[in-house]
Amino acid sequence: MNENDAEACDVLVIGGGPGGSTAAALLAAQGVDTVLLEKSRHPRFHIGESLLPRNMELFERLGIRPQVEAMGVHKPGAEFVSDASGAGVAFRFADSLQQGCSYACHVRRAEFDAALFANASARGARAAEGVRVRNVRLPTAGGRALVQAEVEGGAIRRLAPRFVLDASGRDSFLANALGTRSLDKRNNTAAVFGHFHGVAPNSAETEGFITIHLCAEGWIWTIPLPDGVTSIGYVGPTAAFKGHTDMQTLLLARLHASPTLRPRLQGSTLASPVSGTGNYSYRARSAWGEGFFLIGDAFGFIDPVFSSGVLMAMTSGERAAGVARAWLDDPRAGRAAARRAARKGGREMDQFGWLIHRINDPVLRHMFMSPSNVLRMRDGLVQMLGGHAPASLRAHLPIAAFKLTFRALSLASRMLPGMALHPA
Ligand SMILES: Cc1cc2nc3c(=O)[nH]c(=O)nc-3n(C[C@H](O)[C@H](O)[C@H](O)COP(=O)(O)OP(=O)(O)OC[C@H]3O[C@@H](n4cnc5c(N)ncnc54)[C@H](O)[C@@H]3O)c2cc1C
Repeated sequence: MNENDAEACDVLVIGGGPGGSTAAALLAAQGVDTVLLEKSRHPRFHIGESLLPRNMELFERLGIRPQVEAMGVHKPGAEFVSDASGAGVAFRFADSLQQGCSYACHVRRAEFDAALFANASARGARAAEGVRVRNVRLPTAGGRALVQAEVEGGAIRRLAPRFVLDASGRDSFLANALGTRSLDKRNNTAAVFGHFHGVAPNSAETEGFITIHLCAEGWIWTIPLPDGVTSIGYVGPTAAFKGHTDMQTLLLARLHASPTLRPRLQGSTLASPVSGTGNYSYRARSAWGEGFFLIGDAFGFIDPVFSSGVLMAMTSGERAAGVARAWLDDPRAGRAAARRAARKGGREMDQFGWLIHRINDPVLRHMFMSPSNVLRMRDGLVQMLGGHAPASLRAHLPIAAFKLTFRALSLASRMLPGMALHPA
């Protein structure tokens, strides 16, 4: 590849999902010459349909909040139901310690991702679909990267960007090419999911809530989507998937085995093909390097039990736009910005990760199912569930108290094996 034959641009964004489209929209709006390449064509199916209140603030900044609200189902909170006890607990975002938006939305990703992509284009990004990035030669200090992309039909497009943002999702284009991506062995799970018609809705008090059924091996989500469709998926250890070649049979068996979900399924029918995802959780060693930054799932993925993926992708897309901007002005300032952004993103992931790694722990399940509001621990938990990182020392205290209580209860349950815990 030769730089002289290639189309020059300031920033190339690989992947037009929520993370890439956010970064491209924000950069283009500031006059940065941005190319956004998406290998498939919108609208296309994608999993990840339940959003968080902090997303709404981002939609506001992108100028698409009314559009997202119009296409989505109003989501005032999250409900957790225990298959072991039949008990449920509902967390309302309005109870969050952080006073921000008190609701989120559930969306069909086909429509949502198409709107974000169109927004990037409307703000001036040179956005193209059906173009798959095949090869990236990263820049040496101060130079340009050289990129080869394959256009549908086989033509090759060559680009020479000054900075590369990788938002290629679970393909993790750059981290795989650099060999820096590793699987998270503590969360060795897989998922199987589909859309259904005719699922009985939640009760009036939890209308619009996502419901997480904590089942014997893992968990099941139900998400109400527009037009009476419900998205349902099962997440469990890879052992639960072993020997199953037919994903539809496996999904239906798991859903009907859940005593708390089964009654809602009577008379329901599948409305989509069933899909699955393995190699579940992973992270790249670093979110950045000379002339590039990794966004969203291209950097790392954690179990979606708390619906954090789209928020983290869009937040890192917003930060990455700032990093690219700083880098274009002065690579030294860009490196410092990249270091800060990577640290922040890693911390946010760790915050959700702390809960996720313990989701099958009986003590954590007990604390979830009978949450105490002593020291505002419950409200602090709701703040986390809304996607808000504690913004002050005062906001950190309830989370710290929650973690401390978990440790104390874990120790006590090891020392007193007969200790009664809520059977979650
Ligand atoms: C089972 C499951 C359930 C989930 N549930 C939720 C949920 O309820 N709520 C939530 O917030 N998150 C959820 N997530 C996570 C969520 O789907 C992701 O975190 C989110 O989509 C990440 O956005 P992204 O922009 O980083 O990547 P993506 O949305 O995956 O977008 C990446 C884009 O890059 C394109 N691309 C890839 N390679 C190339 C290439 N070489 N060239 C050009 N384009 C390329 C892809 O086609 C894709 O459009 C779930 C995930 C799973 C697996």
